[in-house]
Amino acid sequence: MEDTTSVAALASLRAEQPIVIYRPHMLRRAVETFARGFRGQVLYAVKTNPDEHVLKDLWAHGIRNFDAASLHEVAMVRGLFPDATIYFMHTVKSRHAIREAYHTYGVRHFSLDSADELEKILVETGGAADLGLHVRLAIPNTHAELALSDKFGAQAADAVQLLKAVRAVAAHTGVCFHVGSQCMHPDAYRTAIALAKKIVAQSGVTLDSFDVGGGFPSVYPGMTPPPMQSYFDAIHDATRDIIKAHGCQLLAEPGRALVAESGSTLVRVELRKGDYLYLNDGTYGSLFDAGTPKFIFPTRLLRENASSELRGFSFYGPTCDTLDFMKGPFYLPEDVREGDYFEIGQLGAYGRTMATRFNGFSIARNYVTVSDEPLMTMYPLPEKVLPLRTRVLGGGEKQRKVAGK
Ligand SMILES: *Cc1c(COP(=O)(O)O)cnc(C)c1O
Repeated sequence: MEDTTSVAALASLRAEQPIVIYRPHMLRRAVETFARGFRGQVLYAVKTNPDEHVLKDLWAHGIRNFDAASLHEVAMVRGLFPDATIYFMHTVKSRHAIREAYHTYGVRHFSLDSADELEKILVETGGAADLGLHVRLAIPNTHAELALSDKFGAQAADAVQLLKAVRAVAAHTGVCFHVGSQCMHPDAYRTAIALAKKIVAQSGVTLDSFDVGGGFPSVYPGMTPPPMQSYFDAIHDATRDIIKAHGCQLLAEPGRALVAESGSTLVRVELRKGDYLYLNDGTYGSLFDAGTPKFIFPTRLLRENASSELRGFSFYGPTCDTLDFMKGPFYLPEDVREGDYFEIGQLGAYGRTMATRFNGFSIARNYVTVSDEPLMTMYPLPEKVLPLRTRVLGGGEKQRKVAGK
């Protein structure tokens, strides 16, 4: 852990490598938003950001449940937190992973979407009597930026049969689904919950838990979701009757919404060609989502007396692959030039965790803590306590308007 500094001070170091920036206060604000607003258990989706300092801070803020999707994640969480409850929520696990998770790491909760996976879990746990089994339902991902429904989930008719089979052997029976990541409308949860309730009713099974999954959004230029509380309200309204009738727990598996704003990266411009900037970070580094899913991230140039006129740029990363391209547009002062440093925000989720060492470039393993406000936020403080500098340099509002028009 390094001392807290400011992003501007970091830029003045003129570092050769991209610098990973951490805002612990934003992690705290996100966790508090869920703790205050969501009436259920929060399972943190570890894949979103498995950095140890993030996991430890989540624990310090009261997160006790972790959604892991690989044996490595299971082992890591157990190594850090002997008392954590780990949910192994990948619906397709190797037999070895099931065995190790159950017998070595004390995992009791598993998700599944097929009868074959159920059989695997029963065999590899030795027919354990203390299993929590969560049937993953296929749900239309209509409001999400990143759909997940093709790969995972049982269709309604299969799900009904699977629920009955699970209830016969499990100590704890649940349903789960994922509305798709970066879900832009609370209606997606209403639709999914309605479908899940129908399937549960058809099965005649009594549930121990009802898991609404991840998908809670962050804010990006041109993608401003409604307030987080409107998602919680939609979920509470739609689940009220089933929670009461079954006496079951409400669960959620947020990833992005808890960690996105807590991370960013400071990058350098190595060359400018017109509206294209060549950077020292790219899609094989912390910017995968700027490439293939074409997310637009907020940016903030760190040079005094830069132009106040903004212009849209595309980025190239440092590798020799032409796929190392980020279309944008990313808005920066029109006179941005070689040697400039700028911050790219909202990279606490699906940022550094996706990085590779391809072509000899890699993103730093260390990080620097800052107390600056983030470039954009779902969790604003009251205006009067926002530091003035944020409003002058932030540019978030302006970028959002330009990109969203
Ligand atoms: C990725 C994932 C999550 C987290 O999704 P977000 O959209 O980041 O909230 C939760 N649950 C499962 C099963 C996932 O695969």
